[in-house]
Amino acid sequence: MKCDAEKVIYMDNNATTRIAPEVVDAMMPFLTECYGNPSSMHNFGGQVGGAVEGARQQVADLIGSDTSEITFTSCGTESDSTAILSALQAFPEKRHIVTSRVEHPAIKNLCENLGRLTGHKYKVTRLQVESDGTLDMARYEEALSDDTAIVSIMWANNETGVIFPVEKMATMAKERGILFHTDAVQAVGKIPMNLSELDIDFLSLSGHKLHAPKGVGVLYVKRGTPFVPYLAGGHQEEGRRGGTENVASIIGLGRACELAEEMMKEENNRVRAMRDRLEEGLLASVPKSMLNGHKIDRLPNTTNISFEFVEGEAILLHMNRYNICASSGSACTSGSLEPSHVLRAMGVPFTAAHGSIRFSLSIYNTDEEVDFVLEKMPPIIAELRELSPFWKAE
Ligand code: PLP
Repeated sequence: MKCDAEKVIYMDNNATTRIAPEVVDAMMPFLTECYGNPSSMHNFGGQVGGAVEGARQQVADLIGSDTSEITFTSCGTESDSTAILSALQAFPEKRHIVTSRVEHPAIKNLCENLGRLTGHKYKVTRLQVESDGTLDMARYEEALSDDTAIVSIMWANNETGVIFPVEKMATMAKERGILFHTDAVQAVGKIPMNLSELDIDFLSLSGHKLHAPKGVGVLYVKRGTPFVPYLAGGHQEEGRRGGTENVASIIGLGRACELAEEMMKEENNRVRAMRDRLEEGLLASVPKSMLNGHKIDRLPNTTNISFEFVEGEAILLHMNRYNICASSGSACTSGSLEPSHVLRAMGVPFTAAHGSIRFSLSIYNTDEEVDFVLEKMPPIIAELRELSPFWKAE
């Protein structure tokens, strides 16, 4: 199949990323001749098992953990579910979960389902956020109780890029004997982390957000943290997750982590500079546009901008004419006409929340692409506003 990869200006990297060519190269032998099962007794399988362990080391190096703390999973969603369900089973007498109103559906819907499926056996506190998307730590402290089994707070928000102080929050949970999980799917590879120095018990990450393939993830479980597997089955992953490993993707994820570690500082500064130029240019050239989310405590690649009185979906369709890819809301919520739960939680007015666009850049974007988007966006918004009765009434 042919697709438009050569033509597109891809600024939707929080939805998914391009697989790095180096990652493809690392994976190829495992899609072709090196097809042994890593659990097999023979050398042919053992060689593959050795490569999987190499990838585990590469992941551990990026997040500052030990290899024994890394379990490969199928995706970020699986890692999130595994962490929460493990904590609830490890402390069956505890019935309370603390999370936030701006979590990804992988946590949001899991918590909602847990309530429904267990006849509301579990109480879930969803922390409110401020208008800039940040959390109020006093409210967090108040929410923690003897009944709390686990706290789950994302490291960085997928829609706004806002970073939460999970290091401090994990310590506060630990002081009260509460397990702490962070969904770091958007943070890993974009901000440095050293889990060996932190009180985080569980961390989720996902390959396809950092230039590795889709369908592979990791759950970090701190040594000594009680753990109950989600997928029972074979003895793979030291009995932590049944199921034959997705070897090629695991190798790809390992290589992607190595690349992220090598390039993080320099490349993220370059990405931040492009993101800032894009953001400043759009806010300056489009009247009634505003930034959603904290300006500083943010991932280097993400900007979420509201263009008042126009529909995000309509903007995306017009951008599509120029092969510019971005998102309105998160990829999982687009397709519904409801404004994003994240922007609603931040109290973004209805007319602005509907016209929000998330641009998320990567190392593969260029200054020329930023120039192109800066040239095309103002006339797109102006054209759509001409059709908007709300704009005309302004
Ligand atoms: N958590 C966050 C913050 C995400 O952005 C995503 C994907 O968009 C996920 C979890 C789910 O990850 P995956 O697609 O690997 O299941």
